[in-house]
Amino acid sequence: MLPIIDTHVHLGTSKFSGVTTTETELLESMESNGVATSLVMPQPTLENIDDVHENIGRLAIEHPGKFYGIASLDPWMKEEPYVLRLEKCVKELGFIAVKLHPYGHNISPLSDRCNKIYESARRLNIPVIVHTGLGTPSSLPSLLIEPARNFPDVTFVLAHAGFAIYTDEAIVAAKTCDNIILEPSWCPTYTVVKMIKAIGDHRMIMGSDHVTNLPVEIMKYRSIGISDVQLDDIFHNNAKRIFKL
Ligand SMILES: [Zn+2]
Repeated sequence: MLPIIDTHVHLGTSKFSGVTTTETELLESMESNGVATSLVMPQPTLENIDDVHENIGRLAIEHPGKFYGIASLDPWMKEEPYVLRLEKCVKELGFIAVKLHPYGHNISPLSDRCNKIYESARRLNIPVIVHTGLGTPSSLPSLLIEPARNFPDVTFVLAHAGFAIYTDEAIVAAKTCDNIILEPSWCPTYTVVKMIKAIGDHRMIMGSDHVTNLPVEIMKYRSIGISDVQLDDIFHNNAKRIFKL
């Protein structure tokens, strides 16, 4: 089997759950679950976001190939400072994607303010990861259909694939737009099967979201009767292709 890539990992403290994840916990969890690479982003947080980005950047430099950063900036910020900070993350810290958190930042993906995210992603040639599920209506998966159509050359990853309750809607969005990828952390096993049947395993990636959820997410794919080739795609090949690792 190929090395496992976890595409949804957080560092720092969440303003919602109060949960803090440290560097040591990340390293231990990867070691004990046989994960080779983690894509790390800030939480929706009250911490200084530039500091969290710097920490993630340092982690990536200290452990080449083991960690890659994902930027998560407040879309309510004006365009110029937003773009400057995102470009710094990508060009100086080597980040490989940008996150939009409609719930954490209380914004609809259809807001004009989000266009700078999609335009920057296109220019920088990076995917946009969007939190979906918890925190509706702005976290409804269908709200990504219009941006995915307007930016057909940008890849949109629906994190949590609707978070169980809106999973059917995430499947509809992915069936409607080829540039939508599903990352079904927290979704039930039978819905993961449904996703693979609907869009194929090439547009599915594994994400844990929390260190203690990592073994659960890995086991989910191992328990649904898919082949080793499909597991390699979902655990490794797809993430490598989508995030250009
Ligand atoms: Zn998350």
